[in-house]
Amino acid sequence: MALLLGMQICYTKYCCFLCEWNNRDKKNYYVNKLWPKRTSLTPGEKNVVNLSFVLQEKIYLPPLHIKLRIMNNFVKGMDKIDRGVEYVRNKFPNVSDSKIKEGIFVGPQVRELMQDKPFDEGLNETERNAWLSFKSICRDFLGNHKAANYQDVVQDLLSSYKAMGCNMSLKIDFLESHLDFSQKISAKSLKNTVKDFTKILCLWKSGTKASGSRVFWQTIAGH
Ligand SMILES: [Zn+2]
Repeated sequence: MALLLGMQICYTKYCCFLCEWNNRDKKNYYVNKLWPKRTSLTPGEKNVVNLSFVLQEKIYLPPLHIKLRIMNNFVKGMDKIDRGVEYVRNKFPNVSDSKIKEGIFVGPQVRELMQDKPFDEGLNETERNAWLSFKSICRDFLGNHKAANYQDVVQDLLSSYKAMGCNMSLKIDFLESHLDFSQKISAKSLKNTVKDFTKILCLWKSGTKASGSRVFWQTIAGH
């Protein structure tokens, strides 16, 4: 997404393309919800390094990436000497220690852990609250069906992550400050995006490659 919008990637100060959220301002992370809106994507200003390939409103937020990132924030916020991390280590013996420490998991591993009752029981109270909110958000907001009370579900997740002292990531900023924008997540748009992406990949394979990467990315982004 950052690539499409011409923004500097990695761990940077103003990484949100919708607002001027300062991700270094750890004290105000969960306190200030309304950061100044980003009015333009001008190269040279606030982490924008190149001209944008696509219009801001054409950006679609992928639910899986949000899910993996908030899982990552959860694991990183866990007490490293507590039973929880030890349990994850034993459950996935083939995953390296550094990956576990950094909370890097794939979708099937997250699903497996979500169905694991003993994992819930091994967590301390704060962690368990955060884990249960994580499970609810996966089911009620990031899945195929959005629950009517999804705003409460998101709010629960934010307060339990705050209690756990989790770092806020860009994905959490989307949930906290741009819930309206995140509403673009729906089963319908997901289905269409997958369909379009497959179509574009076929096109790309059969010759679009010659027209260069800019055209390729613009087509993917729906230009
Ligand atoms: Zn933002």
